[in-house]
Amino acid sequence: MSGRRSLTVNVADLLRRPGQQRDASLDAVLDGLQVLGSKVPEGAQVHVEAHLESLNEGVVVKGTTEAPWVGECRRCLRAVEATLSSPILEVYEPHPSEGETQLLQGGEIDLEPVAREAVLLELPLAPLCRDDCAGLCPRCGVDRNEVACACGTEETDPRWAGLENLRLDD
Ligand SMILES: [Zn+2]
Ligand SMILES: [Zn+2]
Repeated sequence: MSGRRSLTVNVADLLRRPGQQRDASLDAVLDGLQVLGSKVPEGAQVHVEAHLESLNEGVVVKGTTEAPWVGECRRCLRAVEATLSSPILEVYEPHPSEGETQLLQGGEIDLEPVAREAVLLELPLAPLCRDDCAGLCPRCGVDRNEVACACGTEETDPRWAGLENLRLDD
């Protein structure tokens, strides 16, 4: 399973009468899924699991979007990678209401815009390698997850550094 595929689903079979149901499992490579602190790696597949059900004039889609992401820990700068999962719930109809429902056209629905938005909402802006990451020492720069440096544990606010020097000079 590689290469570019689409998240378009033909739902003509469901539209014959309301209440028809079907599951769909789709994968596609979507470009440009990136926020400040993380992104879906280039060429990685976004996976959509969807349950489709027809209405009088449309289709309801319930499911989840999954995608791998990579980023950099905001405290220790080490590479972080994980998989995100985000719920989707959308109504597709021939005459969609702006911002509320999606377009159903030619017996097809396109899950890409919805999957794209779901991934972008879920990508972490400031990832952590783990919740209790100790980060880098602000003085000597060692990774405090691995090394206990001699700088002490008290937080030094750089604004007070000047005052400390003044006291030493006295
Ligand atoms: Zn970290
Ligand atoms: Zn240190």
